[in-house]
Amino acid sequence: MASVELSNIHKAYGALPVIHDVSLAIGDGEFIALVGPSGCGKSTLLRMIAGLEEITDGDVSIGGQVVNALTPRERNIAMVFQSYALYPHMTVAQNMGFNLKLSGETKQVIEQRVNEAARMLDLTKLLDRKPAQLSGGQRQRVAMGRAVVRNPAVFLFDEPLSNLDAKLRVQMRSEIKALHQKVQTTSIYVTHDQIEAMTLADRIVVLNQGRIEQQGTPIDLYRQPANLFVAGFIGSPA
Ligand code: ADP
Ligand code: MG
Repeated sequence: MASVELSNIHKAYGALPVIHDVSLAIGDGEFIALVGPSGCGKSTLLRMIAGLEEITDGDVSIGGQVVNALTPRERNIAMVFQSYALYPHMTVAQNMGFNLKLSGETKQVIEQRVNEAARMLDLTKLLDRKPAQLSGGQRQRVAMGRAVVRNPAVFLFDEPLSNLDAKLRVQMRSEIKALHQKVQTTSIYVTHDQIEAMTLADRIVVLNQGRIEQQGTPIDLYRQPANLFVAGFIGSPA
């Protein structure tokens, strides 16, 4: 795991500015929820941290090192999306081990890490199945397993549960929480679900039109929202 620091990040798509001077320090092992309305720039921020999107201005540091010039692979980050993007022709075990194989790990190391992650995510009995033989929740767990086996410095989640039904979302929420308690990997979790943010995060960062409106612990934001926008989002009765 590693700290993540955003320093005066700006992003424009062509002439359209979408992120304005965002600075944020995330501690080693911390779980941050990044919330805000659709189109406010959450995915863009995550993609810049992951190295999937060019930064217009500013620095991203991981573990104290500026990583602007590093490729996604060199940043040692794992990203979990809502579309699981599992390979349909591969088994669960092969899907989970694929990235390790690309990195040139040996068969023994891959098997050991896949088994360990499978135990953590209750996938041991499903390792020989193909994605088509899994439920939505199981597929999401495989997608998380694929991230866990790489033992990344940082997890980035982009609304990973938004495709699941309400009941499954609640269950997966507790699984993500349990996973974080085990691996303690620094996590940035994008969601537009305020309850998800409140239950999972050490700290919530509220983004609005590319700017940070407020950040704080869930209880701080709930009790003392800085403005009506945050109050509306976190749902304080005040
Ligand atoms: P969120 O994830 O919070 O919904 P995004 O980061 O996806 O927001 O988008 C932020 C803004 O940037 C939106 O106005 C969106 O239309 C725009 N945007 C996102 N990706 C691109 C792109 N590849 N090219 C041009 N505009 C984009
Ligand atoms: Mg998004």
